[in-house]
Amino acid sequence: MSEKNAESEMRAWGGQIRRRDFLALLGAGAAGLFARRLHALEAALGAGKPNIIVIVADDLGYADIGVHGCKDIPTPNIDSLAKNGVRFTNAYVSCPVCSPTRAGLVTGRYQQRFGHEFNPGGTQIAASEIGLPLSEITLANVLKASGYSTGVVGKWHLGMDPKFHPFKRGFDEFFGFLGGSHSYLDPRADSANLILRGTESVDETEYLTDALTREAVAFITRHRSEPFFLYLTYNAVHAPMHAAQKYLGRFANIADQKRRTYATMLSAMDGGIGAVLARLRQTGLYDNTMVFFLSDNGGPPAANASNNFPLKASKGTAYEGGIRVPFILQWPRRVPRGKTYDHPVISLDIFPTAAAAAGARLPADRIIDGVDLLPCAAGQKGTNPHGILFWRMGERAAVRKGNWKLVRPAAGRTELYDLANDMSETTDLAAQKPDLVQQLTRALADWESRLSPPLWQPGGQAAQRARQSSLRQRRLLLASRR
Ligand code: CA
Repeated sequence: MSEKNAESEMRAWGGQIRRRDFLALLGAGAAGLFARRLHALEAALGAGKPNIIVIVADDLGYADIGVHGCKDIPTPNIDSLAKNGVRFTNAYVSCPVCSPTRAGLVTGRYQQRFGHEFNPGGTQIAASEIGLPLSEITLANVLKASGYSTGVVGKWHLGMDPKFHPFKRGFDEFFGFLGGSHSYLDPRADSANLILRGTESVDETEYLTDALTREAVAFITRHRSEPFFLYLTYNAVHAPMHAAQKYLGRFANIADQKRRTYATMLSAMDGGIGAVLARLRQTGLYDNTMVFFLSDNGGPPAANASNNFPLKASKGTAYEGGIRVPFILQWPRRVPRGKTYDHPVISLDIFPTAAAAAGARLPADRIIDGVDLLPCAAGQKGTNPHGILFWRMGERAAVRKGNWKLVRPAAGRTELYDLANDMSETTDLAAQKPDLVQQLTRALADWESRLSPPLWQPGGQAAQRARQSSLRQRRLLLASRR
């Protein structure tokens, strides 16, 4: 076996071997000894820490991947994650908009526990104070303490002030932007939200999605010899609608211009995910790398021509179209290939799942709302991992217990849906099931009573709705305690 082949073989087993280990091994001499040492190394590596990559798409429609039935935009690389891993068919994010979902994702906690209920935007507190509260512990903090190299590539959206920078939140490396959206074409489109490498602005010349892919691939290459955590947060397919020119020809048959642009943006991201997977294969890290893929919220069809079929409504709402998302976990070494898992799961689960896989300790001084999904993904746990799930963004709220879902919309009466028979939330059963409505309303009020007030309010009309909501929540809580 040549040194190169030996290296690639061992990477295929463990992925975390340093080059000097091989050289020492090769220097050990006799072939028999070499084989025995290889065997011992293989056994030891059976427990090797996996690499962890969390890929977040932005504002992706539920129906806009091949494995969810998309016909007009091929997504072969995202689909390959499902074919080689487990697809969660009842998967949610913890908020129907960007920043709060990310706050929940990186902490494993309902973000309303620490007041990160809304997107940044309100003027009630200084803009410099808006960000993931410094009291929170991130997944990067936990993995870094467990020996991982950590990096963010893409959209941060957890605070613009230097105190909230990824470097202050457990990440060693950062390439991307701190705000909520970004031009794909002009790195200086917004002087307050520049493309940064670390803390320095860079004049990026590539289409932004391709630049993020380039940086993600380079991160993997740089850290191939140690366990790493890469938080790859594409801003695709969030507006602005800037076409990836190289894919325009592929979608000439899509008549709607916005959908055609969206298709090129999605293709660029899917191709980027393909490049990431290819680099994992080339470096021998593929089998022992966990790759999560999800969207941060439902699609907003009016803004980006995304498609949430068959789900009701869109981004910003507590209906399924706002919070139910594509969610896949691939980890060839530990997770079965091509399976689906149907009990409800939530983006908060990524934190404890990744920590468990890494052998990292969870923070003991706070409630972690997520659960370890590995026993579910591995088919060892057939029961519902979450008894009940909650959502709230101002007056909008929802509860899911089993197949029942209570929705408290922005205005009007509370609704009840049977998702087992009505995934599209077409038939409100609240009038037929008053006891169930009361039970779930009480559970929601009890959960809300344990949350923190929002640290900031959204701007404009959203702010007014939020204030109404807080009054309404107080009324509900009083009613439930009577
Ligand atoms: Ca989003």
